[in-house]
Amino acid sequence: MSRVIAVTNQKGGVGKTTTAVNLCAALAELGQRTLLVDMDPQGNAATGVGIDPRGLGTSMYQVLLGSADLSDCIQATGIDNFAIAPARLEMSGAEIELVSAFSRELKLRHAIAPIVDRYDYIFIDCPPSLGLLTVNALSAAVEILVPVQCEYYALEGLGQLLHNVDMVRDGLNPALVISAIVMVMFDARTRLAAEVVADVRRHFGDRVCRVVIPRTVRLSEAPSVGQPVTVYAPTSRGAIAYHELAREFHQLSPPASASGGREGTTA
Ligand code: ATP
Ligand code: MG
Repeated sequence: MSRVIAVTNQKGGVGKTTTAVNLCAALAELGQRTLLVDMDPQGNAATGVGIDPRGLGTSMYQVLLGSADLSDCIQATGIDNFAIAPARLEMSGAEIELVSAFSRELKLRHAIAPIVDRYDYIFIDCPPSLGLLTVNALSAAVEILVPVQCEYYALEGLGQLLHNVDMVRDGLNPALVISAIVMVMFDARTRLAAEVVADVRRHFGDRVCRVVIPRTVRLSEAPSVGQPVTVYAPTSRGAIAYHELAREFHQLSPPASASGGREGTTA
């Protein structure tokens, strides 16, 4: 059974794309058929795997507007089992162009439905906002993975995210659950980082992944050469951490529904 996971946090620069790209790569290296769908007009997911989205004929923009199928947009990444549906800047217009469209929140869910069985994992990288593109991702997903920076303001804004998740669950997608909170950019030299992790664990209990992603130079360099860190620096701490996260995430039993298994936000 395939798992569809939105990687989201409306804060900018918290490690959504880094986590999406590297977790996909690590799951693909475990032999899982993995697709990364980019819902962010910045197009960083594609650049992270060495694809220049500007050079493509079809991107997620055409898919959302209904002029292309998702399968027309999917590209190989050069890593076995890891495919990507890229986005680029033009998609920022979709948020406005879809305003009057019928069931505009469900465009991505309808686009994914015909291909869902081809993959074990479909990750959706969200933009740093809670707008229509993110709502499409939350409506298409069953699970949510929230990267949280090990920084002082980490929890700020999470309340709003949880509120929006509740709204999407009530109105559009009753099956939606937050299945994983991943602590990222952990700096072991600061006491603050450890305190933030402890704080988030107190709030969210076992939904916080055991594996914590360290802040490392290799992780920030990897996108500049268009490779996941697992390829760019396979023995680095960042690569090891994302491999461990992939194993942990793979072992998490997919939630049966919002009221069963790992609970939803209202638990
Ligand atoms: P946006 O909201 O703009 O989409 P994002 O949440 O997707 O941002 P990323 O692009 O993944 O965030 O990361 C922001 C920056 O931090 C990037 O330059 C990235 O290379 C760097 N970065 C992410 N994770 C780490 C890490 N663990 N260690 C060091 N640098 C990191
Ligand atoms: Mg991003």
